[in-house]
Amino acid sequence: MSSLPPAGTRLDPWYGSYSRRTHGMRASEIRALFAVANRPEVVSLAGGMPNIADLPMDSIADAVGDLLRRDGARALQYGSGQGDPELREQITQVMALEHVGAHPDDVVVTTGSQQALDLVARIFLDPGDVVVAEAPSYVGALGVFRAYEADVVHTPMDAHGLVPEALDALLTDLGRQGRRVKFLYTVPNFHNPGGVTLSLERRPQVVEIAQRHGVLILEDNPYGLLGFDGEPLPALASIAPDHVIYLGSFSKTFAPGYRVGWALAPHAVREKLVLASESAILCPSNAGQLAISTYLSRFDWRGQVKEYRRMYAERRDAMVGALQEHLPTASWTTPEGGFYVWLKLPEGLDAREMLPRAVTSLVAYVPGTAFFADGSGSTHLRLSYCYPTPERIVEGVRRLAGVVNTEADL
Ligand code: PMP
Repeated sequence: MSSLPPAGTRLDPWYGSYSRRTHGMRASEIRALFAVANRPEVVSLAGGMPNIADLPMDSIADAVGDLLRRDGARALQYGSGQGDPELREQITQVMALEHVGAHPDDVVVTTGSQQALDLVARIFLDPGDVVVAEAPSYVGALGVFRAYEADVVHTPMDAHGLVPEALDALLTDLGRQGRRVKFLYTVPNFHNPGGVTLSLERRPQVVEIAQRHGVLILEDNPYGLLGFDGEPLPALASIAPDHVIYLGSFSKTFAPGYRVGWALAPHAVREKLVLASESAILCPSNAGQLAISTYLSRFDWRGQVKEYRRMYAERRDAMVGALQEHLPTASWTTPEGGFYVWLKLPEGLDAREMLPRAVTSLVAYVPGTAFFADGSGSTHLRLSYCYPTPERIVEGVRRLAGVVNTEADL
């Protein structure tokens, strides 16, 4: 007996043919916003685009031109599925700044850390598996976990990051319910969107809890070198290399355009990641990897990171100063690095409902609901200070305050 083909719709005759996974996919709230937020008259405090305008473009163009003349046959050829060996060696030097003592053999180069998130999900997640993630969590990671039909369970943060006792209690509870927790997804530094950092004291506690419950840690760390004061904190991977998959990226410390990131993983996991990546993309772009490798060896990349820190600190100050002046009825996190402020609206306001009015007032943000798997978060919103100039940030906050104050009066 043959079964009937699944139903299509008028707009999409293949609607009934997609996999179950695909039905779980949704455009992120940020993407839907981009069209309006990118209009020049709107101050967008929504997107997380790094400001790369001051990179030395001419010298980078010369270096990449040289690279192609000297080594073009390699740069434009297929490469290793695991990534270029010299770049992997350089990546270990970058991670050494966060006390990670890695071997280049355990590094897998990926197409941005976003692809690394996808690979980790692909090799670990079956439908219905649990991923424990901070409340709130990076929207792009939630999208990946949803695509693999995982069940994301949130665990709270406070001003010092993940709350260890709450994590312990949650894992105990999930264990009692017989749920399979595949990993803890965490952004320890300058959280997107939370704006907070996991304190030095809590780092070994979080690792110990995960180890005790037999739960792997997925440490997503694109912002770790962008702290405004002091030295980078030790990565969780430096505490327990056998228990952590660490994701890094050049998107924020250099530029996102070459799409180069990486995963550092325990040996056996690394092998699976390479197999998964080969099946997805054969190999990461050789041209992109060699361009990054050239940048790291020929430019003062540490000096550039310092310059980024200075620039983003100035923008953070502009945003926090403007919030203090114009929006004292709200509360917010004051980040010590990275790109984001997480703001709690005055009682009774809903960030999602307010958004159309904000856009009409020519300011955009991301409603907190984007960062929760369960639809909560409407009392909060994310503000990014990475891209607009300090003057535009102040103007954006002033407009936002106008909207909030009008709503609060209604
Ligand atoms: N993780 C986090 C927490 C991010 O904020 C981002 C980018 N916004 C990514 C991963 C992905 O970065 P990329 O793919 O450019 O390395």
